[in-house]
Amino acid sequence: MKKNIFTVGPSQLYPTAKKHIKKALDQDITSMLHRGDDFHSLFTSTTESIRSFLKVPKTHSIYYLSSATECMERTLESCVHKECLHIVTGAFGKKFFDMAKDLNKHATHVEIEDNFEKSLNSIKVPKKTELIMLTQNDTSTGAWIPTKYIEKIKTKYPDKLVAIDVVSSAPVVDINFSKTDITLFSVQKGFGLPAGLGVLIVSPQAESKAQLLRKTKKIPQSYHSFYYLKKYSDKFQTFETPNVLNLYLLKHITNDMMKKGAKKLETLTNKKAQKLYQYIEKSKIVTPVVEEKNFQSQTTIVVSVKGGSKKLLEFAKKKNMYIGAGYGPEKNNHIRIANFPSHTNKQISDLIKVLGDFEKEQVKAS
Ligand SMILES: *Cc1c(COP(=O)(O)O)cnc(C)c1O
Repeated sequence: MKKNIFTVGPSQLYPTAKKHIKKALDQDITSMLHRGDDFHSLFTSTTESIRSFLKVPKTHSIYYLSSATECMERTLESCVHKECLHIVTGAFGKKFFDMAKDLNKHATHVEIEDNFEKSLNSIKVPKKTELIMLTQNDTSTGAWIPTKYIEKIKTKYPDKLVAIDVVSSAPVVDINFSKTDITLFSVQKGFGLPAGLGVLIVSPQAESKAQLLRKTKKIPQSYHSFYYLKKYSDKFQTFETPNVLNLYLLKHITNDMMKKGAKKLETLTNKKAQKLYQYIEKSKIVTPVVEEKNFQSQTTIVVSVKGGSKKLLEFAKKKNMYIGAGYGPEKNNHIRIANFPSHTNKQISDLIKVLGDFEKEQVKAS
């Protein structure tokens, strides 16, 4: 029986992914030489697809790394000499803040758990800050930062670099590339692909900063520093032997999604989210972790479960529904539901029915 996979990452494959994987194997894509013409053409067409789908301006570079985590680490290495500020709305934001400290950066952070509107509007960025990092959708809490707040920060602090993590919201999130210098994501969440590929989108301002640091501060240049990413990308290549299969799949999935239409995907995703939140509002056993509606995630819905999440997860599993447990210390208290383009309207309706059945059983038992 086909599983309904609502875990937030890796998540359910996009409906056409299996077909493309089979095709790739038939065509021996996995043996493609990464210095040859075929790769040149794959690299170029994948990049063109991403650029057109996400509306990335020509001025911005698109690079391929191994994961979103790597994209973040390389950003900190290449663009920050000392000072960075992390806006933390959950465990992923916290992880990147810790990563900056591990890299010996002088990292500071602002933690936001509620009062999102006021807190985001009153962020004070220290003069010395070089880069501001935001997790647009924090997958641990389901906290979503609408684009306008990111735009406001860049407008107020145009000389600082702004980096956003859109791992669990891309491709169904509006990104204003004129107000964002670094955009990073991996493909095993919203794109519905196997893990093992990170995408990093870089503005000219960030590129210049990386060049300046390389020249004047002589910071170490790892193989995925912005310098080498650009050097190889200019030749339509990567430094290392890349994940050719995933690049191939990313191109085809992106094209499939484009055929559906970016706007339509977003509308469908929001409709499914609305259905889920409507159920949650009525439910007597689950409550959203983020209370303010404008800051509730459309793609990863996180709720706490009265009496703990374990029984619910087991109940759903028996009905062939695989829901994510809470993140870290909240493992047994929360559940996390992925609502990506891969998840159909029917799957979400079926899930809501299962959640309702569980609730009835709980009420009866109590
Ligand atoms: C999953 C996730 C990451 C990490 O992605 P990897 O591809 O595993 O490196 C980073 N940020 C957010 C918000 C995530 O959901």
